[in-house]
Amino acid sequence: MKFSELPLDERLQRAIVDANYIAPTPIQEKAIPPVLERKDLMGIAQTGTGKTAAFALPILQNLLQGGDSKGQKPIRVLILLPTRELAIQVSDCFEKYQKYTRLTSACIFGGVSDLPQKRALSRGVDTLIATPGRLLDLINQRVVSLKKLEYFVLDEADRMLDMGFIHDIKKVVALLPQKRQNLFFSATMPPEITKLAASILRTDPVRVEVAPQSTPIERIRQELYRIDKRRKGALLKEMLLEHPEMKKVLVFSRTKHGADKIVRVLEKAKVTCAAIHGNKSQNRRQEALGNFKTEQIRVLVATDIAARGIDVDNVTHVFNYDLPDVPETFVHRIGRTARAGRDGVAISFCAPDEEQDLRAIEKLTRVQIPEGDKAIFEKLPPPQKETPESEARNSRFRTGKFGGRKAREQKTEQAKKEPSKPQPKQKQNALPTPKTHTGKRLGSRARRRLREEQAKRQQSQNG
Ligand code: AMP
Repeated sequence: MKFSELPLDERLQRAIVDANYIAPTPIQEKAIPPVLERKDLMGIAQTGTGKTAAFALPILQNLLQGGDSKGQKPIRVLILLPTRELAIQVSDCFEKYQKYTRLTSACIFGGVSDLPQKRALSRGVDTLIATPGRLLDLINQRVVSLKKLEYFVLDEADRMLDMGFIHDIKKVVALLPQKRQNLFFSATMPPEITKLAASILRTDPVRVEVAPQSTPIERIRQELYRIDKRRKGALLKEMLLEHPEMKKVLVFSRTKHGADKIVRVLEKAKVTCAAIHGNKSQNRRQEALGNFKTEQIRVLVATDIAARGIDVDNVTHVFNYDLPDVPETFVHRIGRTARAGRDGVAISFCAPDEEQDLRAIEKLTRVQIPEGDKAIFEKLPPPQKETPESEARNSRFRTGKFGGRKAREQKTEQAKKEPSKPQPKQKQNALPTPKTHTGKRLGSRARRRLREEQAKRQQSQNG
């Protein structure tokens, strides 16, 4: 099928030619016709499949058919999505596709001043692309009204739920007119997403699905390196120094702290790189992403949330510096390479305590990841022996749970081996450390409050 065969306005067709799109992608082929017929749609597709054009083009077509409204334009289309990066990307697509028309769009997201966004909205826009927090904020300020809305798109619904946006989504949906067309996109369809979709979509939506979630892209060549946690940085560095063909490299770290640490290691080795994660300002994130896209830096280190929705062409290598604990995330990550018919390589580092994550990934993808060339290990410093303390510390950082089962078990093991040290005597009349009913230590504020209450009670008993 060619784009010219689709009943799209000549102005949109021209923009498509300018964008160098020749044929619709499978999701576009499947989604554009029913959306043009004003049907509700549930699309199961990941970023990189062309899903933005799959909803943007038919919506723009429908808007064009409606004709221009006189006076201040009401917002007729709302695209709700989880991250600023995705918002900017989708907004860029709308601008690209509508450039020969008089249709307009605006993009709003948090973390930056709302003034330029309010200014853009004051001129009136047809399409609003928004993250939930800023949208609700501007609705409360009466800067945004959704009373005349005709089209509602929820993009990356699964990620929205992961990020805790469910209540915000429900609040927004409650403000929309009953009569509207709904398009719902998600990369995965766990039961809670199906439930959310059912609460938004009209009955019998058209369901389109591309690249089932559990199938990794076949063209990706995968390699696995079993390595202790402490030497992952050295391994990454050596690989980058040894392989100049690793030109545009995306490295996934499980934590923000870990991402910064990787950048420090690479910078020391003069590898150009930057990190994007939630602790970086919007400007820094955009700058890092821009430099990566234009290949001014070779490596972009990202956490899953920050990387979600970012669209970068020609990523040559994806590194799973840490394995994700949700196997579907692995599929999203490696899908960033080998796009648009190109080849790509995904390299995964697996520490001993990540074996379980590896098994889950291999089970989901039904692929046993082959081990990479072990010769590289000769260039690394010898492994340091883990002490029980360092292992417990690593495990705490990995899980984010301080004082978890493993750490407790290790402590008990150690206590068994070592003769117990004399414990400092408890102060006389000291109150025991307050704990929750599950035995966890309370937070400092709660501890103080409890202590005050206990002291009062004791005073009143004594007095
Ligand atoms: P998306 O999945 O919407 O984030 O799109 C991923 C990338 O594919 C973007 O860079 C789009 O510009 C590009 N793209 C979308 N549709 C097509 C198409 N039909 N032909 C070629 N590239 C496309």
